[in-house]
Amino acid sequence: MRLELPQIITQNSHDLHLCDEKSWQKDLRDVVTEPEQLLRRLNIVPNDYLQHFKARKLFPVRVPVSFINRMKPGDFDDPLLKQVMPLSSEFLLTDGYSTDPLSEHDTVAEGLLHKYKNRVLMIVKTGCAVNCRYCFRRHFPYQDNSPSKQRWQGALNYIAQHNEVTEVIFSGGDPLMASDDHLAWLVAQIEKIPHVTRLRIHSRLPVVIPNRITASLVALLKDSRLKATMVLHINHPNEVNEELVQALEPLRQARIPLFNQSVLLRGVNDNAKVLVTLSEVLFDAGIQPYYLHLFDAVQGAAHFDVNEADAVAIATEMLATLPGFLMPKLVREIAGQANKTPINLA
Ligand code: SF4
Repeated sequence: MRLELPQIITQNSHDLHLCDEKSWQKDLRDVVTEPEQLLRRLNIVPNDYLQHFKARKLFPVRVPVSFINRMKPGDFDDPLLKQVMPLSSEFLLTDGYSTDPLSEHDTVAEGLLHKYKNRVLMIVKTGCAVNCRYCFRRHFPYQDNSPSKQRWQGALNYIAQHNEVTEVIFSGGDPLMASDDHLAWLVAQIEKIPHVTRLRIHSRLPVVIPNRITASLVALLKDSRLKATMVLHINHPNEVNEELVQALEPLRQARIPLFNQSVLLRGVNDNAKVLVTLSEVLFDAGIQPYYLHLFDAVQGAAHFDVNEADAVAIATEMLATLPGFLMPKLVREIAGQANKTPINLA
């Protein structure tokens, strides 16, 4: 297992380099979609793994080049490769696993989920820059939930009519797949609803394509009357490299709070040492460890599941090493519950 602390370089404001939209959209066009191409880039002989390739029909392969560059060449067990490589085991049907483990397929308006009392989740954009094989939304009927500007009206009306909603969460797919113009339009509509005070963006896109942090995105979040936060999704310390740290610097300078949520994944990060390193690396990068999620029992990805007893043992070991402020909360999401369910440690 590779466990090298990435070299973190911070910059002064005069050194900041902010990308424009063309840069990340080019990276998005260049994503690898063929398992064979993915393995060849890593100097892994594809013929040894042909039996796995057909699993891409269950969930397409999408891997940005920047993410591939953080994998160890020649290592089929690389923890980043494992997150994106289709496997024949995805065809196994497992009792107790569902295509909709969190009962999310019921929306209150087109593109809008109201799972928690004072927060709503907007499916801003369908699709992601990277397709994570363990994703609990891998079966989500995105074709029914890809609202255009006109079709957002129902969701905006719903939020306006529900005074208890104080926070809007941009989700997806990945909300940062939307252009900055589209995001700016949507934020402007939400700003007109007085009882909404916070905007949260859940995204993995800047992790896999750091160029996604554009000048216009930073300005949008900084200048909004809504208090903006960004929750990233990073599972392994090898995902945090210098390119990502530098890309996030403008958000840190704009005082946009950055959090991270991880999913506990067998064979990827089910190890206290790895997760302790992840918390330390995140903190060095100005990102607060926030949640460590138990795997959601989605059909086709059971091989990633870590049982609760093992998860508690791992988290207990982390607690013995980390300062409290770097310890992510171990939680499980249960369909229909008003909040995430904390898992008690031994
Ligand atoms: S980026 Fe998030 S929503 Fe997209 S496939 Fe990965 S886990 Fe799922």
